[in-house]
Amino acid sequence: MQLKNNNSIPLSDKNEMDSMTVWMPPRYNLDKIKFGTDPSTYEKAIALCEDKKITQFKKEFKSFSAIVLGTKPYKVYVSEKHYDRGNCECYLGQNEVLCKHMVAVAIYAVLGGEELSQDDKKIIAEPMCTKILGELTEGELTLIKQTIASALRYIKAYYGPSRNWLAYQDSLQEGCLRLSQITSDLPVSLQTTKLLVDMLLRLDVKLQRGGVDDSDGTICEFVENIVRVLQEYAEFDSSCLIAFKKLKNKQTCFGWEEPLVKLISKPSESP
Ligand SMILES: [Zn+2]
Repeated sequence: MQLKNNNSIPLSDKNEMDSMTVWMPPRYNLDKIKFGTDPSTYEKAIALCEDKKITQFKKEFKSFSAIVLGTKPYKVYVSEKHYDRGNCECYLGQNEVLCKHMVAVAIYAVLGGEELSQDDKKIIAEPMCTKILGELTEGELTLIKQTIASALRYIKAYYGPSRNWLAYQDSLQEGCLRLSQITSDLPVSLQTTKLLVDMLLRLDVKLQRGGVDDSDGTICEFVENIVRVLQEYAEFDSSCLIAFKKLKNKQTCFGWEEPLVKLISKPSESP
């Protein structure tokens, strides 16, 4: 996480600029903040927004500022370009850690002070099965495929150097959080099972040949969670089992397909 103090303009100039500044939204959106921040910090930041702890919010030159009411009032600056760059007077902020106060000000800037919707507040740390049968329309399927493809781009090769390691881990986590959200909105059917099986195979290629460094096990854990979701799919609608045939005789990176292949090998084993 790179933290930069944007408070470099003399106060008098700033005030002058405030009066002239037309409201411009930041260059990030709520999804960027939601999926880029670890879920517990995001949750705390939402609470700060809902409890109206963001006061004296101002558009500054290339940044936003506010006084966030925490244990004590903290002066917070957040860049208009990167929600995770800025400055906060709290202990974490002073130690270059992205704190809940900065995230709260970034959320406030994105929403222009409007209230958060239920969807904005919903945090999906792990993919879940909706337990609702149904198929996507052709248009929805195309859109979901595009969303999956763009989320998969966060799960990329690691080229070092080691000082980029934390940012790299954040990127893998962001990819998994985005994919978890997509998965957790899908209806259950053979169609969506195929979609998830293909997603797992693409992740597997990334892990085996794509240069992804999953030493922290973020991707492995995510893959295991999707396998668990797919087991639920099969329990819910047995036609989903057909999609698992694609996994037969595959050599995956850590044998994650085994529980799914087992489900389709049962009938042939019985006499
Ligand atoms: Zn802070």
